[in-house]
Amino acid sequence: MHDSTEAPTTLEAVAPTRAPDVLLSLSRLSKTFHPRRHAALPVLRGVDLEVRRGEAIAVIGPSGSGKSTALRCINLLERPDSGSIRLDGKPVFEASDTGPAVGPSVRALRDLRRRVGMVFQGFHLFPTMSVLANVTMPQVRSLGRGRADAERRSLELLEKVGLADKANARPQTLSGGQQQRVAIARALALDPEVMLFDEPTSAIDPELRIEVLRVMRGLAEAGMTMIVVTHELQFARQVADRIVFFDAGTVLECGPPEQVLDRPRHERVRHFLTAVS
Ligand code: ADP
Ligand code: MG
Repeated sequence: MHDSTEAPTTLEAVAPTRAPDVLLSLSRLSKTFHPRRHAALPVLRGVDLEVRRGEAIAVIGPSGSGKSTALRCINLLERPDSGSIRLDGKPVFEASDTGPAVGPSVRALRDLRRRVGMVFQGFHLFPTMSVLANVTMPQVRSLGRGRADAERRSLELLEKVGLADKANARPQTLSGGQQQRVAIARALALDPEVMLFDEPTSAIDPELRIEVLRVMRGLAEAGMTMIVVTHELQFARQVADRIVFFDAGTVLECGPPEQVLDRPRHERVRHFLTAVS
């Protein structure tokens, strides 16, 4: 390491392999589904995206354009056919047309799922466990945290999402907005480096979405690196550093909200924005 008072002599010395602020990068990511009795369906067709540390990215675009598949590829819930994924400069996945895909070991996969938190449209809480147990159990299992420490952390996070008083409730007794906030707390409990949200408010009654959006906004403001697939354009405008527009399995447009939402370069983006607003 350089002494902080010593000026680095070359740029190389500061950034030997990558821009230091890029946390997650997707490069030429491709994925084709082969549904039975149907033609092959290319869903990702060379997705490139770099997410900087602390950046909040909103992903928008038509239904079926590959947004969910792209998110699911990042933590390898879906395996890309080709391209690469890097987290903090290190390859998580690399595959090419010329050689076999190099997949991660079970251990590496577990590590990846811990570092990349995910929140889905349908909350996927464990129905037979209390809210507290939902948030605590993954910490014990994945981090090996002691139960008392894990519960303390869970209560802290439940407090943060405004649900400390629901710790002993069962998920089904909560509203959709509350369940989603529990799901967020559960993902945060593993101290992820990046959070992925796939339409987190789409299954929630409109009047209950605001609390979830507030929690997400707080996370973004606290510097969490996050990618949010959403139809909430107002949220995207206010919270996202950049908006990514997906179309037919590629990133068609990407830029600050004012650019993508107010002065889109592509007619398809303009068309989408008029259709949804
Ligand atoms: P989006 O989230 O943008 O709506 P998705 O990534 O969910 O898009 O889906 C893109 C396309 O891939 C859709 O046509 C969808 O039906 C198809 N698809 C998604 N998952 C699968 C799968 N496991 N098997 C076959 N087709 C799939
Ligand atoms: Mg989707």
